[in-house]
Amino acid sequence: MDLSNSKKGTAAVWAGEGDLNTKGAATSPIVNSVAFSYHDLDEWHEVSLGKSDGFIYSRNTNPTVAVLEEKIRVLESAEAATSFATGMAAISNVLFTFLTAGKRVVSLKDTYGGTSKLFLDFLPKYNVEVTLCDTTDHDAIEIEVAKGCDLLYLETPTNPTLKVVDIKRLAAAAKKVGAVVVVDNTFATPINQNPLELGADLVIHSATKFLCGHSDAMGGLIAGKKELVQKVFHFREINGASLQADPAYMIARGMKTLELRIERQNSSALKIAHYLQAHPKVKAVYYPGLASHPGHQIAKEQMRGFGGIMSFALEGGYDNVKKFLTTLKLVHLAASLGSVSTLAGPPRTTSHVELTEEQRMMLGIPESLIRYSVGIENVDDLIQDLEQALATL
Ligand SMILES: *Cc1c(COP(=O)(O)O)cnc(C)c1O
Repeated sequence: MDLSNSKKGTAAVWAGEGDLNTKGAATSPIVNSVAFSYHDLDEWHEVSLGKSDGFIYSRNTNPTVAVLEEKIRVLESAEAATSFATGMAAISNVLFTFLTAGKRVVSLKDTYGGTSKLFLDFLPKYNVEVTLCDTTDHDAIEIEVAKGCDLLYLETPTNPTLKVVDIKRLAAAAKKVGAVVVVDNTFATPINQNPLELGADLVIHSATKFLCGHSDAMGGLIAGKKELVQKVFHFREINGASLQADPAYMIARGMKTLELRIERQNSSALKIAHYLQAHPKVKAVYYPGLASHPGHQIAKEQMRGFGGIMSFALEGGYDNVKKFLTTLKLVHLAASLGSVSTLAGPPRTTSHVELTEEQRMMLGIPESLIRYSVGIENVDDLIQDLEQALATL
């Protein structure tokens, strides 16, 4: 089906569907077959060589997984897409495909906790030079990029303080030195932001979060230039971090309601951010939709909505965080984000658990910070819940 003129909500429902329907089934089936059989040995050979379309073995490609890959390809307006067992598998496959000994990567201090770990502990062991810049210091990032680098790795908005980086500006700087530009678009989703349209070469998603949307399946996706996606795909075929048909089906199912959920979460989060900002027991609110947020102007230019995640710091210390969080009712105190239900937790037990207290301080993560991922509940109920918990402090 040609969806080139369709809006995102339409593409999310229809992209990739149709080819697999057997006996008129209105939903693409879950194909849990490991291998695919052929009567014609010549045809088998052609497919094996990639000379004609088809499936051979599910570590490489699988029909259900292909449905999901097509959805992200269309939603990110990309030439190609491929998938992984988790978001971290997507990130490490991308980094290890392009960064071999002697290469240099420039990135941000505020990347996702697991990504930071790759930059700080793993890549240096393979003689990759890693430079992590202050996330919002665009001049400093441009200077580091201009020194020469092979890959520029960005994430925006960041976890957990929702810092915003200017993709267009930094991608342009990276182009001058021939670096591959990669953006983790997990927080924004393709509904709110399309990094490829801003100059990125590859976009990465932890599909575990908003794309799946129900906290019940894990996966990772990348989309972008065909030549680059192919390189990462060939590495993933061999290292084996492949996505299975069952979670692929669940993520594709979740994606059909992505636009509905994101629109709701955008509007609820903005309301909640304003509510918290005006509350005397709240010291600071970090949400790019607030005019007071330092990244608000850039966010307005590169995003269509500000997303469902915010963080806020309470007055007082960690004792207040404990009391507040355990008094909330409409929330799962859990890691992860981007689900239909509201999720909250302090970074020291969620996104940045891998880091030491010192490393968290270095990143400017206050001790009393709470990450709050707004679900699709009614926003009045969520505000009432926050109100009763704040009243106990
Ligand atoms: C969760 C997350 C990841 C890692 O994804 P997994 O599916 O948990 O491996 C990467 N980047 C961001 C921004 C995330 O929130």
